[in-house]
Amino acid sequence: MSLAAAAPATESRSASRWPAHRQRAFIFWAALVALLLSFCTVSIMTLVELRNDTWQRAANSARSLALAQSLEISRRFQIYDSVLRSIAQAAGDDAFTQIDWISQQAVLFDGALVDSALADIIVADATGRVRWSRRGGVGAETNISDTPYFQAQRAAIRNGLLISRPLVLHGRAPDMVVAISRGLETRDGSFDGLVTALVRLDLFEHIMSGATLGPNDVVNLVSEDGIFLARSPSLPGIVGRDVSSVPDASLFLSAPPEGFTSRSQFDHIQRIFSAVHLRDMPLLLSVGLSEDDIFASWNRRAQTIGLVLCLLAGMTLFLAFQIRREFRRRIETENTLRSSEEQYRLLADHSTDLIIRLDAEMNRRYVSPAALRFLGYEPDEMLDQNARTLIHSDDWPIVLRIADNARQAVGGTEDCYRLRRRDGSYIWVEGRYSYVPSDGGFIAVLRDITKRRMVEAKLAAAHAELTALVNTDPLTGLSNRRHFDEMLLDLAAKGDGAPVSLLMMDIDRFKLFNDTYGHPEGDRCLRAVAGAMRTAMESENAVPARIGGEEMALILPGRTLAQAQIVAERIRATVEALAIPHAGNETNGAIVTLSIGCAERPCQADVLEPLIGEADQMLYEAKRTGRNRVASRLILRKAQPLPAAPTDYPQREAVERFRVLKLANGREELDTLAKHVADLLKMPVGFISLYDRNEVELVGRHNITLATSSKDASFCRYAVQAQEPMVVADLSIDPRFAQNPFVTCDRGARFYAAAPMIDPRSGEAIGAVSVCHHQPYYLFGAEERAILSAFARMAMQGMD
Ligand code: GH3
Ligand code: MG
Ligand code: MG
Repeated sequence: MSLAAAAPATESRSASRWPAHRQRAFIFWAALVALLLSFCTVSIMTLVELRNDTWQRAANSARSLALAQSLEISRRFQIYDSVLRSIAQAAGDDAFTQIDWISQQAVLFDGALVDSALADIIVADATGRVRWSRRGGVGAETNISDTPYFQAQRAAIRNGLLISRPLVLHGRAPDMVVAISRGLETRDGSFDGLVTALVRLDLFEHIMSGATLGPNDVVNLVSEDGIFLARSPSLPGIVGRDVSSVPDASLFLSAPPEGFTSRSQFDHIQRIFSAVHLRDMPLLLSVGLSEDDIFASWNRRAQTIGLVLCLLAGMTLFLAFQIRREFRRRIETENTLRSSEEQYRLLADHSTDLIIRLDAEMNRRYVSPAALRFLGYEPDEMLDQNARTLIHSDDWPIVLRIADNARQAVGGTEDCYRLRRRDGSYIWVEGRYSYVPSDGGFIAVLRDITKRRMVEAKLAAAHAELTALVNTDPLTGLSNRRHFDEMLLDLAAKGDGAPVSLLMMDIDRFKLFNDTYGHPEGDRCLRAVAGAMRTAMESENAVPARIGGEEMALILPGRTLAQAQIVAERIRATVEALAIPHAGNETNGAIVTLSIGCAERPCQADVLEPLIGEADQMLYEAKRTGRNRVASRLILRKAQPLPAAPTDYPQREAVERFRVLKLANGREELDTLAKHVADLLKMPVGFISLYDRNEVELVGRHNITLATSSKDASFCRYAVQAQEPMVVADLSIDPRFAQNPFVTCDRGARFYAAAPMIDPRSGEAIGAVSVCHHQPYYLFGAEERAILSAFARMAMQGMD
C-alpha cells in the first residue's frame, strides 16, 4: 500500500477512535469539571481569605493586648528603676556617709515605695556584703556576691539596669522573685556594689491576668535570653524555665509585628501569638490566642459552605447525567433515523416508481430519479415547486381528496390522475399518498399506468359497444328484452321501498297491419312507433324497451301511478299524432294506435311479478275496452260499471240451443272439460258458465260447488260482454271485483281468467270457460290465453 493511501486510513482510524459524539461527550464532561472546579476554587478562596482575615484580626488583637500589657509592666519596671536610682543617688551622697547606720537606713528606705510586690530592696558593697536592706536585719554574714545578679552586675561594663532570672526568696513563705539591680560606681567609675529590688513575680501574673482572655489564651513574660518570668494563666513549674531552645523560640524572640502561630510545649494548644519587647527592658511579652477558639465560627461557616458546595456539585452532576443521557438518547434516535432515512432514500432512488416528498403546502421537497423517465425532468428541476404545477387541472381535486383522506387516515388514499411531461403530453399515474404527521407533509408514490390506462380505455369502449349490442334491439334501437329483465332485477335488488311504475304497450291490430301492408312496412311502422315513444318520454329518466314482437315497455323508477299515466298518455298521443295509415284499425280512425297498461308498486325484492302482472292485466284491459287508450287501476276505478239491462240479452236463442244440444245428455262432458282446462293451466278450479237471462249457470264444474250466481256478482260478464278473453291477476286490487262476495269471502278467489264461448252461428258470446285460484297469479300469458280460448271453442263444438 502506498503512503498516500495509508494516510487517510490512519486518519479515519483516529477519527473512528474519536467519533464526533465522543468528542462532544469529552467537551461536555471537561466543561462540567471546569465548572465544578471553579465553584470549588472560588469557595475555597473565599474561605481562605476569610480565614486569613480571622487570623489577622486575632493577631492584631493579640498585638494590642500585648502592647497594653507591656506598657503596664514597663511602667512598673520604670517605677522600680526610679526607686533604685534615687536610693543609689542617696547612697553615693557625701553627707550620707556622715550619718549613722540607722539614719542611713531611714534616708534610704523611708521614702521608698511601699508595694506589696516589692519583696525587698538591698544595697550591697563591691564585695557583695549587704550594707542596707529594707526588710532590715542585716548581718555581717549576709553576702550576695555569689548571686547571679550580683555577678552579672559586677561583670557589666557599664552600670545599667539588670533583671535577673527568677529566684526563690526564702522567708516565711518562699516567693519567686526577680532581682532588678543597678550598679553603684566609685568616683573613678569602678564597681562599687549595687542596689537591687526583689520584685515578686506574681505581680506580673496579676497584671497579665487583668487582660480579658478566653480560657485557652495565654500571656507570657519571658526574658530576652529565653527564661520564663511569668505566665497567665499560671502553670506550675514554668517560672524560671529556659525556653530558648524550644522549636519556636526564635519566633518569639524576633517578635515579628504581624504575629505568628505556635503550638505550646506545655498544653499543646495551637495559638496565634504576638510578641513585643518591653521598652528599655530585656523582656518580651507575648499574647497567644487559641486558634480553635478563633476559628470556631470560621469552621462552622466552612462546614456549611462545604456542605452547600457538595450539594451543588451533586445536583450539578445529577443534572449533567440526566442531560447527558437525554443527549445520548437523542443522538441514538438521530442515528437510527439517519440510517433508516438513508435506507429509504436508497430505496426511493432505485425504485421504478416515482417517489415525491411533499411538505404541508404540497411543495416538492424530494423527487426520486425516476422523474426523468416519467416526466423528462431532472429531480432537481422539480424541487421546491408546488405539486399542482404538473397535475392536470381537472385532476387536482382528486389529488386534494386523496391527500385529505391520507391526512385523516380514512382510506381512499389512492387514485389515478394525469401529470404533464416536459414535452406537454400527459401521462396517467396511479398515486398513493401517505401522511407524515411530523411535518404535516406527504410521501407520494406514483406508478406510470398510461399503457394500462390505454388498454383499459380500449377494453371499456369495446365492452360498452358489446353491452350496447347485447342490450339493444337491432330493429328499433330500443333496449331488448334481456336488458329490460336486467333493469327490473336491478330495481328489485335495490328494494328501497320507493315507488316504481311500469308501462306495457302493444300496437293495436298489428297483425292486420302486416297482413295489409307487408312485413317490411310493419318493421318501418315499428321503428316509427319506437321513435315516437322516445320523443314522448324524452324528459324521463327511463329506458324504453322492445320486449316482444310489437310489444314495448317502459320502467319509470320513482314515478307514482298517476305520474306514469301522464307519461303513458303522452306516448299514446304521440303515436296517434304520427297518423300512420292502418286500414284494419278503423274503430280508431284507421291509423296506427297504441294500447298501454300501467302499474305501480313499491320497490321490493318481490316486486317483479305483481308489477308486470298488473301492467299486463291493464294492457289487456285497454285492448278489451276499445284499444288506443291507457288503462290503470285508477282509470278503471273511475270507469262506470257496464249496464246489464234485461232487454239487452241478445244471446237468448244461442243459449237455448246450447241447452238442447250440449246439456241434454248430462253435464259430465262439460265437467271433464272444466277439469282438463284447470289441470292444464295448473289452476285448482275450472268451470264453464252459461250467461242466462236472469242469472249465470255453472254447467261444467271442477272443484266448485256453486251452481248459479247472480249476473252482477259473476266475473264472466265482462268477458261475455266484450267477447274477449280476460285475465285478472289479482281480483282484490281490481276495482270491478274488489268488493265481490266471491272475492271477499273466506278463501275467496284472487285470480280469474276467462275466454268467452262464441256461438258460431250468431257470433254471440253465451258464456265462458273460466279458471280460478285463491292466490294472485301474474304469469298468465298469451299462451295460457290461447289454451283458454281453445277450450272455449271446444265447449262450443258441435253447435253449428
Ligand atoms: P291486438 O290489437 O290485439 O294487439 O292485435 P294484434 O293484431 O296486434 O295482435 P298481436 O299483438 O297478437 O299481433 C302480433 C303481431 O305482430 C304478429 C306479427 O305479425 C306482428 N309482428 C311481430 N313481430 C314483428 C316484427 O318484428 N315485424 C313485423 N313487421 N311484424 C311483427
Ligand atoms: Mg302483441
Ligand atoms: Mg298488437
